[in-house]
Amino acid sequence: MELYSGYINKLIEELAALPGIGSKSAQRLAFHLINMPVDKVRRLSDAIVTAKENVRYCRECYTLTDREVCPVCASQKRNHKQIMVVENTRDLAAYEKTGRYEGVYHVLHGAISPMLGIGPGDIRLKELMERLQGEAEEVIIATNSSLEGETTAMYIAKLIKPTGIRVTRIASGVPVGGDLEYIDEVTLLRALEGRVEL
Ligand code: ZN
Repeated sequence: MELYSGYINKLIEELAALPGIGSKSAQRLAFHLINMPVDKVRRLSDAIVTAKENVRYCRECYTLTDREVCPVCASQKRNHKQIMVVENTRDLAAYEKTGRYEGVYHVLHGAISPMLGIGPGDIRLKELMERLQGEAEEVIIATNSSLEGETTAMYIAKLIKPTGIRVTRIASGVPVGGDLEYIDEVTLLRALEGRVEL
């Protein structure tokens, strides 16, 4: 016996496939959506599709952006010789919010995790190394202080060392296992200022 309509079941199934949404939340959301006015539901679905179709990776730093080159990379005011490596676009946004970092970024879209089967080839590392053939003077590794983040930092440092480019790591003091995006701006700035040579 089907408890709900097939359409609702389908909706619950799709919602439950999203990260962080269990089957209970999926049910709650599904019923909430069904009870919403249709124009509101349409606005939501349009926003999802429009974002999906128009957001792309910046040609230089691989952050998510609406343009071919993101505003940071396009800015002449930024120091393009200083590249901060972050795990994702949310981490980039956290550093941008401080308004004090003047370099540019490189977004890996993940971290190396042997446990999850994510290797160096699964993140944007090759793209970073290609970029470094340009005029980079310093690479600041700002991956998270989780096991994956540290593994990634060590791996990148080893790759870059032979090129002679300065490699630094943001200071710990950032709580272990902490996601950068949840850390306040003062802590982020302190981590940046206290960065150490690798
Ligand atoms: Zn960019």
